[in-house]
Amino acid sequence: MPPLTKPNRIATTDKPTWGEQLAHTISDFETLCHHIALDPQTLRKKYHLPDKFRLKVPHAFADRIAKADPNDPLLKQILPTKDELTTKDGYSTDPLAERGYNPIKGLLHKYPSRVLITLTGACAVHCRYCFRQHFDYSANMPTHTAQDEIVHYINARPQIKEVIFSGGDPLNVSNRRLLDWLIRLDTDTDISIIRLHTRLPIVLPDRVDDELLQGLKTLKKKLIVVLHTNHKNEIDHEVTQACQKLSAVGVTLLNQTVLLKGVNDDVDTLCELSYALFHAGVMPYYLHLLDKVAGAAHFEVDEKTAVTLYWQLLEQLSGHLVPKLVQELPNKAHKTPVDVYRYCID
Ligand SMILES: *Cc1c(COP(=O)(O)O)cnc(C)c1O
Repeated sequence: MPPLTKPNRIATTDKPTWGEQLAHTISDFETLCHHIALDPQTLRKKYHLPDKFRLKVPHAFADRIAKADPNDPLLKQILPTKDELTTKDGYSTDPLAERGYNPIKGLLHKYPSRVLITLTGACAVHCRYCFRQHFDYSANMPTHTAQDEIVHYINARPQIKEVIFSGGDPLNVSNRRLLDWLIRLDTDTDISIIRLHTRLPIVLPDRVDDELLQGLKTLKKKLIVVLHTNHKNEIDHEVTQACQKLSAVGVTLLNQTVLLKGVNDDVDTLCELSYALFHAGVMPYYLHLLDKVAGAAHFEVDEKTAVTLYWQLLEQLSGHLVPKLVQELPNKAHKTPVDVYRYCID
């Protein structure tokens, strides 16, 4: 017989805000082990305590790590391991040679038709393969007057059609600060697209709050949000809802994935990811070869394996679910398609 009264529920207002969740990310090894039901001894042999770029993961993402599985693909993305100490030829602290394309603090202009703006160096999560993990953000934040300078820079160069907020994570800043920038670019420039590159809707879906959505809705320019997801387990119900809310205010959603050894370097995992993204309303955009950043060599998938995976994806997926396989070569003014015919087996 059904109960006559509903059981008491915790009031939804008791849920921490995204800001509170961001202030209480998991940043120590014991807490992480406890959260994922692993005896610290099991992971201790792998674990490394870096001075910089420490362990950092929101509870919302840690909740999606399988319990008691030291090889979980989400855990591998965030757990600092001793492998990071291995050096390898070709791996550097500035793999994309970005330091030379920085006309104004906080602005990166490397590709002719689009510029990157960095509002913060902070992210909600520290992905161990992050290509900007050695970037000195403190010396490269937009100053108080930067907004005028940047708007002036853009308007003086009509070839710039798109502004990309990157980072760090642009959704790591307050709505007031982000919307102030978006509205300024929306009203005072002739660019046609504003883009946000963010992992926050994945790792902390409550970031997509009403205030943000209301603000985005007022923009007249076309808005694209490029998410960063590497495995289907990153996409749960809350993430799907956050994506749907963004779609509902007119945002085009795309995703980029980094091909990572031990995380997503097999065809089934990549197919499942494409389907999971599509069901959340997100189109696969790029599948990147790893950027050769010092400390990440253990994630490398060699080019031949990557190309083989790509041909398998073409075989198994509808064309619209296949991301473009690209790499970022230093000093090239665009992403470079990987030469898939070099290893064509047919
Ligand atoms: C990746 C990137 C972009 C955006 O490139 P798209 O191919 O348009 O997604 C822009 N500027 C820089 C410096 C980049 O690394």
